[in-house]
Amino acid sequence: TQKLHIIGGGMAGSEAAWQAAEAGVDVVIHEMRPKTGTFAHRTGDLAEMVCSNSFRSDDDERNAVGLLHWEMTAAGGLVMDCARAHKLPAGGALAVDRDAFSAAVTARLRAHPRVTVSGEEITELPQDGQWIIATGPLTSSALADSIRGETGAEALAFFDAIAPIVYADSIDMSVAWRQSRYDKGETEEERTAYINCPMTKDQYETFIDALLAADKTEFHEGETAGYFDGCLPIEVMAERGRETLRFGPMKPVGLTNAHDPQVKAYAVVQLRRDNKLGTLYNIVGFQTKMKYGAQTAVFKLIPGLERASFARLGGIHRNTFINSPTLLDDRMRLRSRPNIRFAGQITGVEGYVESAAMGLLAGRMAAAELSGRHLPPPPPETAMGALITHITGGAEAKSFQPMNVNFGLFPPIDAKGGRKGRKDRYLAYTSRAKEAFSQWLAGQD
Ligand code: FAD
Repeated sequence: TQKLHIIGGGMAGSEAAWQAAEAGVDVVIHEMRPKTGTFAHRTGDLAEMVCSNSFRSDDDERNAVGLLHWEMTAAGGLVMDCARAHKLPAGGALAVDRDAFSAAVTARLRAHPRVTVSGEEITELPQDGQWIIATGPLTSSALADSIRGETGAEALAFFDAIAPIVYADSIDMSVAWRQSRYDKGETEEERTAYINCPMTKDQYETFIDALLAADKTEFHEGETAGYFDGCLPIEVMAERGRETLRFGPMKPVGLTNAHDPQVKAYAVVQLRRDNKLGTLYNIVGFQTKMKYGAQTAVFKLIPGLERASFARLGGIHRNTFINSPTLLDDRMRLRSRPNIRFAGQITGVEGYVESAAMGLLAGRMAAAELSGRHLPPPPPETAMGALITHITGGAEAKSFQPMNVNFGLFPPIDAKGGRKGRKDRYLAYTSRAKEAFSQWLAGQD
């Protein structure tokens, strides 16, 4: 019988290997560490946590990451099992003893009769056989070059430049209005694709002061500090001159305030739709290295965003990822080479938990395929389903940037009780998800 080969024994590769092996498939994990390292990993263990030791919220009733934990556990996930075995006290978060956690994942996989771990770097896209590429944000450069040869340079990024993403229903539309610059677009939908937040001169000056004063994060050691054209952090633009932003992403031209057509805004912050559902909007051009606390404080100075809720905050990191919406089918296979799947952070999800979850799906899907079956993705009402739907089709391909799991990715449940009702709505999302996920799992028996 055919073996499954997995490149990369990180969060995604380890979980994929476990799932496929448990489904009866022989698996080879090709992990280059410790022979070849990365700037962030320290050990030769599988599933090493490169930075924080937390798998974030463990609340499976009102938090989307907690729900992902629940689904992974329901699916017999190795990462969650080892995390719970090495849990540390951390309030509502699932934090772990990182070395004990990785050692446990490594031991469980090495002890599995169907798993082999091979210690070499794979430098080229494989030709034949069933493969999963789970080489993560720090994919080795030889393999990245080979992937780029297949996908085209445009479809493989080496940095993310994440602008903050806001829940559409938390934007104050009595201040903001919908309009594309110069009303450009063929359809009404295109002509109203942006949400605009106007600023007076005083508001702009206050905003620039706050940007300049905000706490920023430095790049990690070994990470290239050079920025790419077109993705300068906003605070760096502001440092170049107080007017730079007003002539850049915040230029007020081609826009008329629907609430007050006579008054010309001094500057305008634009938000662009980030998913097909229309539940998420990103702040255009606002990639940033400000610390998270500083970001929420500074962005709430923007008129219309005073009470905004953020689905994710901005960032710029060294991060290798592919343009999944254009390259992958709904089973995470490379459209041009369906014997190759991608999983983990390289598919454009972000975080340990999300990466492991995409590994879980890829492992199960590959195992099903090797036994002559097809496993459909989980429904979009589930956390795993919402994520895979987003990266393989729901996200806007042109502005595709890595995504954390969040309720904005789920098919909406009607808001009752406005903002106060949000917590109850989350409970409705997670209840619906658990039922749908259980059915999806039961369908595989
Ligand atoms: P990884 O866990 O990185 O696994 C990929 C594996 O592939 C690695 O073991 C690597 O050695 C191996 N590999 C690479 N190329 C090859 C090759 N050619 N051949 C063979 N093996 C190869 N996420 C969080 O949730 N919290 C954080 O605090 C956090 N901090 C981060 C800090 C940094 C500096 C970086 C770079 C990322 C951080 N992330 C964080 C993101 C985190 O790395 C990912 O979420 C997660 O580890 C991704 O899982 P993965 O399996 O896709 O990749």
